[in-house]
Amino acid sequence: MPFISRRLRAALLVTASATLVAATLPSPVPLGIGDPLFPHLGNPGYDVRTYDIGLTYHGDNSKPLDAVTRIDARTTEPLDRINLDFTRGTVRSVEVNGLRADFAVTDEDLVIEPLGRLPAGVPLRITVRHTSDPGGDQDSGGWLRTADGLAMANQADAAHRVFPSNDHPADKAYFTFRVTAPKDLTVVANGLPAGTARHGADTTWTYRTEHPMATELAQVSIGRSTVLHRTGPHGLPVRDVVPTADRKRLEPRLSKTPAQLEWMEKQVGRYPFETYGLLVAANDTGFELETQTLSLFERSLFTGAGHPEWYLDSIMVHELAHQWFGDSVSPQSWSDLWLNEGHATWYEARYAEEHADKPLERRMREAYTRSDGWRAAGGPPARPDAPEPGQKISLFRPVVYDGSALILYALRQEIGASAFDRLERSWVRKHRDSNATTEDFVRLASRTAGRDLTSFLDGWLYGEKTPPMPGHPDWHSATPAAQR
Ligand SMILES: [Zn+2]
Repeated sequence: MPFISRRLRAALLVTASATLVAATLPSPVPLGIGDPLFPHLGNPGYDVRTYDIGLTYHGDNSKPLDAVTRIDARTTEPLDRINLDFTRGTVRSVEVNGLRADFAVTDEDLVIEPLGRLPAGVPLRITVRHTSDPGGDQDSGGWLRTADGLAMANQADAAHRVFPSNDHPADKAYFTFRVTAPKDLTVVANGLPAGTARHGADTTWTYRTEHPMATELAQVSIGRSTVLHRTGPHGLPVRDVVPTADRKRLEPRLSKTPAQLEWMEKQVGRYPFETYGLLVAANDTGFELETQTLSLFERSLFTGAGHPEWYLDSIMVHELAHQWFGDSVSPQSWSDLWLNEGHATWYEARYAEEHADKPLERRMREAYTRSDGWRAAGGPPARPDAPEPGQKISLFRPVVYDGSALILYALRQEIGASAFDRLERSWVRKHRDSNATTEDFVRLASRTAGRDLTSFLDGWLYGEKTPPMPGHPDWHSATPAAQR
């Protein structure tokens, strides 16, 4: 039970700093909401409505930013203490409802002690003055240092390396970013611009989201960037953020987004947000990320040689599909991750089938062959193994990508293309701007098909072995041993 022992260890470690809080309470301990994969993420007892995050960037991406994070929340139970997730910064002061509050830092939690117990159901305004440090190791997520500034990559558990938060997708909130940077730099964040103000050598850029967002999907780009504007379906503002030096060479690729938006809308209905676009960051991340309204792409993916056009298109469609699946409809827990990646992979593969003559059936047959091996290596799609210690990103294994798109293929084989199509459309409509669980998906699939699909889907979601593929009795999954 590594988590328990870690908590106990942390509780012992903080005894020294516990003199900061009143003697009547036990030592502060890090809390979580019991996510099966990240038990220490999120915190009980309150619901965040808005984050207002002020950041001051001093022009050097290895130096801490000065920050003020203001959180408007509501208590959902009586609280003696408020835990926020936060690490990688120094906390200077905390106020709760306008009054100075004591605090302690323990493990990756900032534990705040308001003056007296807070009842359930009351508004809570927490103001934290702190630094936000992009220095140190780059592998655990949070700030991403680029050649010309900073971007963010917070999935799955790294938003609290940037700002104090209730860092779990179960608690979505509206965001305002106010970022001050030297005036020759450009700042873009999730949502739409809400003004800029020049003061001396600096500019403050404000952005606001029109829809609730999970902390893991926050994005702030600071750099020598150009913002390119175009228009998507129904006048949707599309804006891309690119290194200024690359704007011309990237244009042919970026100009594909409006048609991809149209294609996705044809599959599942209206695009769920106020804007979309690509952030091309000068950093070799090795991954792309569906940050809400502004997906993060590594520059080298587009500027390096060797990637065929269809492959780049399908990666763009993958991140775009996430805006519906994963962003607008967020997982209730991290074990529901297959709902994000399975769907994004599904539309990526469907797009390649329609536009590049890459048959879906061939890809699914190949996935089927490897599926038992993927399940052995990473657990079943809807009950994945925890990430390797110190490698949170290892949660993103093949079983949640093609191994989970395979579930959607099996379901379509079972209920037919027209019921499947209706299911996908009602899924994103019903759970828009909200959270959903694997059980919600099974329930909606059953309702849409007009029969109980629980036992059919059970093996696909939770089985150690891959169930038989409807319509393809000749498909076989190689034994994990044979795949090594
Ligand atoms: Zn993805």
